[in-house]
Amino acid sequence: MSEQAQARQSAAEILSSYAGPHLRIMEVCGTHTHEIFRLGIRKLLPPQVDLISGPGCPVCVTPVGFIDEAIWLAEHDVTITTFGDLVRVPGTKKSLAGARAAGGHVQVVYSPLDAVIYAQEHPEEQVCFLAVGFETTVPAACLAVEKAQELGLTNFSLLTANKTMPNAYAALRDSADVFLYPGHVHAITGTQLCEDLAEQGVSGVLAGFTAKELITALAVAVRKAEEGKPFFVNAYPRVVKPEGTPAAVALIEKVMEPCDSEWRGLGVIPQSGLALREEYAAFDARKKYDMPHIEGRANPACRCGDVLRGACKPSDCPVFGKGCTPMHPVGACMVSGEGACSAYYQYGGGVL
Ligand code: SF4
Repeated sequence: MSEQAQARQSAAEILSSYAGPHLRIMEVCGTHTHEIFRLGIRKLLPPQVDLISGPGCPVCVTPVGFIDEAIWLAEHDVTITTFGDLVRVPGTKKSLAGARAAGGHVQVVYSPLDAVIYAQEHPEEQVCFLAVGFETTVPAACLAVEKAQELGLTNFSLLTANKTMPNAYAALRDSADVFLYPGHVHAITGTQLCEDLAEQGVSGVLAGFTAKELITALAVAVRKAEEGKPFFVNAYPRVVKPEGTPAAVALIEKVMEPCDSEWRGLGVIPQSGLALREEYAAFDARKKYDMPHIEGRANPACRCGDVLRGACKPSDCPVFGKGCTPMHPVGACMVSGEGACSAYYQYGGGVL
């Protein structure tokens, strides 16, 4: 095809006419997985373009041990405040829903600041917010801590399992040929990391969330992959600026510091998590309540770990759609609204 004819091709035509070698594109972000399914974009892809799920669903990558820690707190008279998804994620023996049924106090909130307000309105309760998520959601947790400090609250804390993406990309670099980078994470952190990864041979495209943005990002991925050289393209420039959001980064750095962190399925990735700095130790639930080390054990039937590192598809799990459904989830990836298993169940029925 001539260069002029190539330039006139629409993004959808570029995708469906891709004739290059097998290409594994990892949807790092769980929302990308869901939107690509929901919008029917998979139907545009030729068979040799394989979309695989990645570790970008905050609830899914949170390890079983963290759920067990939250249950330990609930059983020690601490009110757990959390986003709704985490309540149903199985721990080693039970979920937070099970802990609530057994008399624990578990309160669903819509933001970390809601949890601070709850603590302010219930001074007789010890209140802990479950802080999970990536660079996107960490600033809100940091703001909550600052607000609690400003209000002089002594009954508020965070149980942290926050994650950062840089070292996760490095850990997953051989799992995919191209990363579909999560737009909202890089709206905070900027694009330098993606540029650096391209120089190290890791290709990726930053993608937005509308049909047009996703099809464009995928078309850019296949067109650039055909050129055979590592690349990075920001296909979400209306939101992601090279410098990111410096004020949010500064807030994170003020309140939290990097730490080694366990990811479901990926194990402990050095310096891939965030913990409260020593100055904020009074708000760190593990220190405040002298929590023992708690090791979680995932259900051996669950392949969430393999799903999260792109080693298998949800439909490869033997209990997908049988023992494990959104109503009766066995693993976190079937619980979360961003989980790959729930996306496959909802839109693919296991056949895609
Ligand atoms: S289908 Fe269920 S058990 Fe299997 S990997 Fe997904 S969440 Fe885990």
